[in-house]
Amino acid sequence: MDNKREYKLIIFLFFLNLISVKAQEFNKKYFTSIITTLSSKKYAGRGYVDEGMNNAAVYLSKQYAKNNLKYFEQDYYQSFNYPINVINSAELKINGKKLKYGIDFLVKPSSKSVSSSVELPFYIFNVAKYKQSFLSKWYLRKFIEEDEVLQKNKNIILPPLKSKIDSIQQYYKGWANIYEKDDNNDRAIFRFTSDKLIASLSQRQSSISEFIINDKFYTTSGIDSYSINADFNRTFNAKNIIGYIDGNNNDSTVVITAHYDHLGKVGKTIFPGASDNASGVAMMLSLMDYYHKIKPKYRMVFIAFAGEEAGLLGADYYVNHPLFPMKQIKFLVNLDIMGAGDKGIQIVNGKVYRDQFQKIVEINQNKNYLAEIKIRGESCNSDHCPFYKKSVPSFFIYTLGGKGYYHDPEDKMKNLNLDNSVNVFHLLKDFVNSL
Ligand SMILES: [Zn+2]
Repeated sequence: MDNKREYKLIIFLFFLNLISVKAQEFNKKYFTSIITTLSSKKYAGRGYVDEGMNNAAVYLSKQYAKNNLKYFEQDYYQSFNYPINVINSAELKINGKKLKYGIDFLVKPSSKSVSSSVELPFYIFNVAKYKQSFLSKWYLRKFIEEDEVLQKNKNIILPPLKSKIDSIQQYYKGWANIYEKDDNNDRAIFRFTSDKLIASLSQRQSSISEFIINDKFYTTSGIDSYSINADFNRTFNAKNIIGYIDGNNNDSTVVITAHYDHLGKVGKTIFPGASDNASGVAMMLSLMDYYHKIKPKYRMVFIAFAGEEAGLLGADYYVNHPLFPMKQIKFLVNLDIMGAGDKGIQIVNGKVYRDQFQKIVEINQNKNYLAEIKIRGESCNSDHCPFYKKSVPSFFIYTLGGKGYYHDPEDKMKNLNLDNSVNVFHLLKDFVNSL
């Protein structure tokens, strides 16, 4: 072998090595297996039915152990309780058709149990008169007086409201709340809407039961049958999962967070929450997998939060019961919705922490990782918020693009776009290393 060829071979092996190191840093198999597992039937949408959230906690604590994370107390769990209204099942049949939960209709999350076995007449709300009531105080008073009489002891149908005026639309959504009266305990409200149906949770149970229905099923006569089975749980027990990896300098800490809970399951309908937020947990565990092999600069704390969908409850509990001084947190990165990235990422608090934002933008420009990094100001829309309110420097990062399924049964693994996940991972890792 002559020198020239040997030289070429060395160069070749050097680049081969570079490629394989980069590939090893992000273990895509591990990443996707976590999303697949957490969004599978076994975890029942990581909510309040079939032990979904708590089974996910067990699975995650095993991942922490597998990555050799240390814990602050006797294990990785930080346990806390909160009230939650659990919708076990909800059924609705209109004009002979059984509607699909989460797709065709939802129920208001604060609904109590109700059933069509209690027969009540229907009152069809007069939308034309309602719109007219905005014209003057006189019309409004007259409308309220009539409505008060007509609605008594009846089920209520709220027809689709077409109005170009936003405030009228807004009032209409809240109108059902005035029917929340003790003397109408067995009634149901059927509100038809053209809005996208977005499921959510409630920490209280109200005295009314409301169905929110896609307006293509609008009917004034054909509600065949309906039921809601709901249990108000005063003390649901949930767990944050917390562990850490020591760095070269442990006076400062970098915290990575991602919530693992989601909306659970209603009847047979599972809300898989593949993007929201099995994907964020998978990205957090991928960073964990990396830093347990390559010692970080600072101590790295990883927190998988519970109770986010019920109102950032896990993060809120943590900031009031921190496991190490909050002042040691150099920076916190919260990952929620990592299921896309074809259109880049968005950074909440980018306008607050300009230096760090500039840093991540520069890394992205130099390495050409993602299409765009969009900036946002503060927003209390995920688990970074309770920390931010306590003056912890923090970003909330979410991916842009994908098919946009959100809080519905279609937020599934097969609907994600994970082509850019490797680049998102490298951007996050380089950013953490630059802190
Ligand atoms: Zn989320």
